[in-house]
Amino acid sequence: MNRHARSRTTVYVAGALALLAAATGCTSGGDSGAASAALVPASGSPATAAPSRSAGPSPSASPTGGPAAGDAAAWAKWHLTPLPPAPPAPADKPVKLARTGPVPVFSEVKTSDKVVFVTIDDGAEKDPKFVEMLTDLKVPVSMFLTRDIVKDDYGYFKPLQALGNHIHNHTVDHAQMSKVPPEKQKSEICDAQAALTQQYGTPPLLFRPPYGDGANTPALNTAVQQCGPRAVVLWRESMQIHDMQYQAADKKLRAGDIVLAHFRGPKDLKGETMTQMFGELLARIQEQGFAVARLEDYIEAPAA
Ligand SMILES: [Zn+2]
Repeated sequence: MNRHARSRTTVYVAGALALLAAATGCTSGGDSGAASAALVPASGSPATAAPSRSAGPSPSASPTGGPAAGDAAAWAKWHLTPLPPAPPAPADKPVKLARTGPVPVFSEVKTSDKVVFVTIDDGAEKDPKFVEMLTDLKVPVSMFLTRDIVKDDYGYFKPLQALGNHIHNHTVDHAQMSKVPPEKQKSEICDAQAALTQQYGTPPLLFRPPYGDGANTPALNTAVQQCGPRAVVLWRESMQIHDMQYQAADKKLRAGDIVLAHFRGPKDLKGETMTQMFGELLARIQEQGFAVARLEDYIEAPAA
């Protein structure tokens, strides 16, 4: 599945037809990178490496307010070097969303914190090992789910949500929004919003159009406004199999970048698993010295 064929760099200003630093994102090829490490959990891990299974519905937060990092043994279990801990969530959120009016479109967050944000889209691959991995490592992610791709197993995502991860809107059936009329754009967003709200108990705050397509069009902005999400979120980097595809010419992460990945399995990853791909993603972030912060910790939701 070649989802997200394109992405776009945008500015915060709603409706701005922003700079289209188009990059091909999310094609199934494009694994341009580093050698694959063995990123399967070590068998016979010591008992001390056993994952904490106690995560309840409340977000896991460190005493300082940032997401709690998994312990060193947990990272070792997955053959990974721990990421730096994320700093405390900023008290003054860099992104402030309004309750009404045009929604902003952004692919990065303005922050000097040395953090990036990880988003995972669609929901096709439902690998139990990935739930184990995130339970162990406590890396925060934001999930943009497509209703018809997850509806056969909404339950898969609930343990991920219980770790404190938020679920957002990625349409009913992954339509290319600029190719469908405004009323269809509205139903793509509103019907997914209703289903995800019913299943996960909270209305999605954010929307991501498939392929990033149509993000800066008035029709899409209007449809988003009508359906409830309060921002359109794109990305700066797109994880492939072993490496990230960067929009920046220097192929480096920058503070506040939003990284796109997908729930994908061996069929779409040339035989690699979701946890192998995600381990590679974390390694690319670790190598560049970034922490992963929770995107929603940098966004002020509208007052109810
Ligand atoms: Zn998608």
